[in-house]
Amino acid sequence: MSSKLTDTPTVTEHCEHCGRETVHAVAVELRTEGSDPETAAFSREPYRVATCEACGHTTARRMNDA
Ligand SMILES: [Zn+2]
Repeated sequence: MSSKLTDTPTVTEHCEHCGRETVHAVAVELRTEGSDPETAAFSREPYRVATCEACGHTTARRMNDA
């Protein structure tokens, strides 16, 4: 078992912090919306989180953009 764990998907897109196109590592996170613990468990939304590999700036975008 010597498989490399280098399967993090990356994309090249504009980084507003760098002001240019950079490589971003992309991950999907479930984020809880709202501060009410009663409903928080039912309001988790998937976010696409892109981290700039040049400056570390992260950009989270809600995937279910209704
Ligand atoms: Zn950047």
